[in-house]
Amino acid sequence: MSRPKIAILGAGYGGMMTAVRLQKEMGTNEVEVTLVNKHDYHYQTTWLHEPAAGTMHHDKTRIMINEVIDTNKIKFVQDTVVEVKPDEKRVILKNGELEYDYLVLSLGFEPATFGIKGLKENAFSIRSVDSVRKIREHIEYQFASYNNEPERRDDLLTIIVGGAGFTGIEFVGELAERVPELCKEFDIDRDRVRIINVEASPTVLPGFDEELVEYAMNLLERKGVEFRTNTMIKEVMEDGVVLGEDEVVKSATVVWTGGVQGNSIVADSGFETNRGRVPVRKDQRTPDYDNVFVVGDCALIINEEIDRPFPPTAQIAIQAAGAVSKNLLNLVRGKETEGFVPDIKGTVASLGKGEAIGKVGNKKLYGTTASAMKKVIDNRYLFMLGGPGLVWKKGKLKLF
Ligand code: FAD
Ligand code: NAD
Repeated sequence: MSRPKIAILGAGYGGMMTAVRLQKEMGTNEVEVTLVNKHDYHYQTTWLHEPAAGTMHHDKTRIMINEVIDTNKIKFVQDTVVEVKPDEKRVILKNGELEYDYLVLSLGFEPATFGIKGLKENAFSIRSVDSVRKIREHIEYQFASYNNEPERRDDLLTIIVGGAGFTGIEFVGELAERVPELCKEFDIDRDRVRIINVEASPTVLPGFDEELVEYAMNLLERKGVEFRTNTMIKEVMEDGVVLGEDEVVKSATVVWTGGVQGNSIVADSGFETNRGRVPVRKDQRTPDYDNVFVVGDCALIINEEIDRPFPPTAQIAIQAAGAVSKNLLNLVRGKETEGFVPDIKGTVASLGKGEAIGKVGNKKLYGTTASAMKKVIDNRYLFMLGGPGLVWKKGKLKLF
């Protein structure tokens, strides 16, 4: 008898952890698991603001999939998912097709553009190794060009970051570290460079602890970041942005960190979605298909305590992967599935080298303590994925 086929689409936090857990928990010859991913590497999305600014090499964020996955147990296919046909239990790939009995959708996020004019065409976004390499190279090129221009071009040294949620704040924190290095390298006065973080809400990090927000703003302002709160990005042009009704700011570099949505392949394949995210059942299955699970940023999970969705985070993707791998094996073994409720341990955001803010339980963390905590969280994930060897190879070993 042929073994039930499980296909996992996407090797981010959700997909990789589902594969790793299945690898450990499935019986010999019990199921046939295939993991599909665009690249032959997994990357640490939560670190991408660093290579985007150039404070870390992008290779540090990459982990080769076959270093973590035992390819004798799990088949890895490097290909791009084009469409899922859930009624036919088939996945269309760029270079082929895949049939499944059970499916895990873990294709991650993409930038939400909210229909803002010119955003898709003219702004960069922090979403993958490919995208952040481009940001770093672009910024370096603007600095390299500056002293070669016949007339002073302030726009070359003006970096606009649209959105001051956690991604925006972590990115400007890294930029504030990187800019002095770039100024030195390209003989530019630091005062000529502007990092402008634009936020539509009255405060940065809306909804986060006020004291921690104030700490972050003060620290980043001291390092030269300008905040424009209560200000909407209305349009992104080739050479700048329109803020509010009609204020034009010239800039050669606009990075959009104004929000995310689920990978559009999911909605385009006909699954019910809300901002690209599938409102999953308690056991992480889609509302309409008993054999399709969703994990990570493509899943919409309601926090019943406040009747609002949980924010899409790696923390939840990793936890949900544990529940999904267990439920897959429950179904294969003819058992009932179990419900999953995220257990939020806290939130820690970096503000550049050795600086961070965080809330873990009711405890507020600042500065080097928060920064060390962030590294512990990062290393814990690496440990779960590949044991002490992976922590040693890829971890952030210097805590202070
Ligand atoms: P992803 O990590 O996005 O992975 C999706 C995978 O699918 C990728 O490997 C991608 O290559 C692959 N893929 C996509 N499309 C296709 C396709 N068509 N075919 C084949 N493969 C495909 N969360 C936290 O909890 N803590 C943090 O500190 C934190 N920091 C962050 C910092 C930044 C800069 C950003 C951008 C996000 C951060 N987040 C953080 C959020 C977190 O990164 C996401 O919630 C998490 O990455 C979601 O995991 P995922 O597995 O759903 O998707
Ligand atoms: P977000 O949705 O959390 O923040 C986007 C911000 O952009 C919001 O503050 C919003 O008001 C603002 N914005 C939207 N439209 C705008 C406009 N037109 N003009 C100006 N500002 C605008 O998105 P994110 O920061 O990319 O985060 C995505 C997810 O990843 C979240 O769930 C977040 O919690 C998670 N994340 C977590 C960490 C961490 O824990 N350290 C770090 C990064 C991201």
